[in-house]
Amino acid sequence: MLSLDREYRYIKEAIDSSIRKCLLHQKWILGPEVEELEHAISQYLNVEHCVGVSSGTEALVLALRALAIQKKGKEYFDKEDEIITTTFTFTATGDAVLRSGATPVFMDIDPVTYNIDSVKMKQYLESPEKGNVVGIIPVHLYGQACDMDMIMNIAQEHNLFVVEDTAQAFGGKWKDKKLGSIGTIGAFSFFPSKNLGGYGDGGMVVTNNGELAQLVRELTKHGGKDKYNVSHIGYNARIDTIQAAILLAKLKYIDEFNKKRRAIANIYNEKLRQLQYITIPQCMDEAYHVYHQYTLKISNRDELKELLGSNGVSTALYYPVPLHRMEVFKGRSKNASQLDNSENAAKQVLSIPIGPLQSQEETDYVIGQLYDACLRNN
Ligand SMILES: *Cc1c(COP(=O)(O)O)cnc(C)c1O
Repeated sequence: MLSLDREYRYIKEAIDSSIRKCLLHQKWILGPEVEELEHAISQYLNVEHCVGVSSGTEALVLALRALAIQKKGKEYFDKEDEIITTTFTFTATGDAVLRSGATPVFMDIDPVTYNIDSVKMKQYLESPEKGNVVGIIPVHLYGQACDMDMIMNIAQEHNLFVVEDTAQAFGGKWKDKKLGSIGTIGAFSFFPSKNLGGYGDGGMVVTNNGELAQLVRELTKHGGKDKYNVSHIGYNARIDTIQAAILLAKLKYIDEFNKKRRAIANIYNEKLRQLQYITIPQCMDEAYHVYHQYTLKISNRDELKELLGSNGVSTALYYPVPLHRMEVFKGRSKNASQLDNSENAAKQVLSIPIGPLQSQEETDYVIGQLYDACLRNN
């Protein structure tokens, strides 16, 4: 789907010199590049504090653990504490809730944007079914912002924290605000295939709350201010110096690369909207979509996927199984309502190739194959 080697060749000089610097200073753990990256990203997002961590998953867990410590004065949330999130996301979003001790409450999605349905969320919060809800984790799926006005209003009204799962949306915006900077905490992933990806695992926790930032930082280093002064049940969850160095080099290209993704999405939009059997992604006016994925909705998705595959177009399913269908969440989670839109999306979504350095010929080829497949299939 994405050719990372092409990206490397495009920015080779910058990457090589960044890595070479690390080889010379040999400060592999919390070397100078980690602080530089934290500083650069806090400038980029316009947030006060950034803490480099070992993955996007750990970013979510650390954010929730810090919130439990701050809000409850306890190491973990209790089972009775509910955290609302979407069922149509990557496993890590729900798994992080379990690891923080709380119960995930799975909410349905809006069938147009695939993001959490704020109206259904409001209904749940006003219903007798609701338990002790402490927070919300909106996921900016495929690179498109959730309705952050609605979510922040609901959070304020019900006194809830908001952890933005921004793993797929580095550089994305809601109105004039960068995603990850709007809620109580933002969690980012630098998994290699993400819009800003390293050459291994990595992540970032961002916040304007100094106390939460300090707690997250301690938790990444075994839970203490230093090795012999440990207060919390911590982790070893720092970002590697070498990943920070690579990300510093790649950060300079993120706006250019996101623009290139948007340009390809525009071409797809124009050409594919004419195909009757395919629903193209809808972008909200307030959202600056960074197209981590370009995802179609198709009723006979599986046949089409197969046809495209046999003609050299690789596609992917994000996500074929909603979280409430997974074994790990059985008996450990709650469904807020009917989750029909998520069930339907799981059967119909298909992500087609999109990458910043995808050529016009490649984009045209994908479009041509989709036209052929639709003709043959209907
Ligand atoms: C990738 C991803 C994560 C997890 O990030 P890792 O760095 O792979 O641990 C969490 N949530 C969402 C929505 C993701 O896409």
